[in-house]
Amino acid sequence: MAAAERTSADDPQSDPAKAALALRAGQIIERLARVIENPRSELNYDSLFQLLVAVMLSAQTTDKRVNLVTPALFQAAPDPASMAALGHEGIFGFIKTVGLAGSKSRNLAATSAIIHEKYQDQVPSGFEDLVALPGVGSKTARVVMNVGFGIPVIAVDTHIRRVAMRLELTKSDSPDRISDELAGIIPDRYLLHAHHYLLLHGRYTCAARNPACGACCLNDLCPSRDANQISRANPSGS
Ligand code: SF4
Repeated sequence: MAAAERTSADDPQSDPAKAALALRAGQIIERLARVIENPRSELNYDSLFQLLVAVMLSAQTTDKRVNLVTPALFQAAPDPASMAALGHEGIFGFIKTVGLAGSKSRNLAATSAIIHEKYQDQVPSGFEDLVALPGVGSKTARVVMNVGFGIPVIAVDTHIRRVAMRLELTKSDSPDRISDELAGIIPDRYLLHAHHYLLLHGRYTCAARNPACGACCLNDLCPSRDANQISRANPSGS
């Protein structure tokens, strides 16, 4: 499934186990919605094109590091035409402190040229069009669709994958499958913001090394809370 398209087979009500999972997923997102007041991207940008650039730069890099390099980059090249004209060497000069700067600068130059020439400077909103752009994978495409176009899809990054697995909302390992599974169980009314609720929860509470289970608003709904609390209290397991 390219993005969050529901079919009758996805209807949680047709499967009791899935209905129970959907009920729990709804409770989880509802709790997160109460404590996360601002479910927004932490990347800085002023246009859809700049959002796409920032998201491409954020692969395997923190949003904070991306936000350090984009002001100068966007001042020099605010739109697809000027970014393409800057070329990969010019772009590299602005982003060299970001991980994978070499491949990212080449992809940004190529993608900017395509958006300028093929899409008349407009970032496309379709999943297939986005993933056809150099350096744009399914996660980046979904982030742009969700944040930029308000399309209710869930982009699964390392934080969302970890949170979904700890909460046992999925047994899958593949981000694309997790994305489709979450879209199948999270209530429609929460789908647009579910991406940021889960991402921000993973970034600030359900961290990879030291999840704050004791302070977590999902503690009573989480099958992993004891494992995480025990492993922190007694890391040797003895
Ligand atoms: S209880 Fe712990 S493992 Fe479960 S979601 Fe909260 S922080 Fe994560």
